[in-house]
Amino acid sequence: MLLLPTRLLFAFAGMGAAISFSGCATMDSSDAGPLAPVRGVVIDAGHGGNPPEASREECWGAIASSGFKEKNGTLAVARKLRSLLSQQGYGVVLTRDSDRFVSLEERAAVASRPEHRDWVFVSIHFNRSHRKQRATKLSAAYRQPRGFEIYVMPRRGGRSTVGARASSGYATVNDSRPSNLALARCIAERLDAIPGTTNRGIKEAWFVVLRSCPIPAVLIEAGFLSNPEEGARIATEAYQEKLARAIADGIRDYAARASVYAADSTSTRGRS
Ligand SMILES: [Zn+2]
Repeated sequence: MLLLPTRLLFAFAGMGAAISFSGCATMDSSDAGPLAPVRGVVIDAGHGGNPPEASREECWGAIASSGFKEKNGTLAVARKLRSLLSQQGYGVVLTRDSDRFVSLEERAAVASRPEHRDWVFVSIHFNRSHRKQRATKLSAAYRQPRGFEIYVMPRRGGRSTVGARASSGYATVNDSRPSNLALARCIAERLDAIPGTTNRGIKEAWFVVLRSCPIPAVLIEAGFLSNPEEGARIATEAYQEKLARAIADGIRDYAARASVYAADSTSTRGRS
């Protein structure tokens, strides 16, 4: 969950504004815009470490009723994702590969390295709702929000742009709007295919890790730890593996579309 101080996490935002969803397969070139080829993936496991390096919220993230911490789930999925993507020949770098605190600026700085110019950035989180649990445990599973959502940068000139820039002090370097959206759609389509998941849509927010990334970037809230049933699933290795596979497949779908585009534009240039 991203309930960090606004100073750190998002410099304010049009958070929660869902944007229209259409799948990776149905995306046409006007949806996707010019996509750059993908040579590697910066995988960002949300949170990490322990107080007093930062607040409990920043370090641990959301916590399931079992005590399972978001920071451990994000790292588990990140490592599985690394292994899947490496097998497929992608370059892969993790912003953290251990239980340690990494600032948002450091995370974005990894994505900003010149050698990652043709890469994409995927940040992994789990969610939490503050809705009070009432009644029985059985009904709580149904009352509590569940499902995944994927965040991208708001469109330029969007409602929150001015306020965000004025209040944050963070420069916005991400200028990959069509690519962000295409990547989010491809991953959402694969996550949506996991039995039992709920697709809460693609949303927009000025998260620091998104806005400070010079490459296509998405932030995945892969499920609600606060939902008893979903929280229990997220803590299992089998489900972490499913999530990692879906994300890897989504990245591959995106990369395939990007390379088709690159081939098209090359041949177009060749003809003219
Ligand atoms: Zn989080």
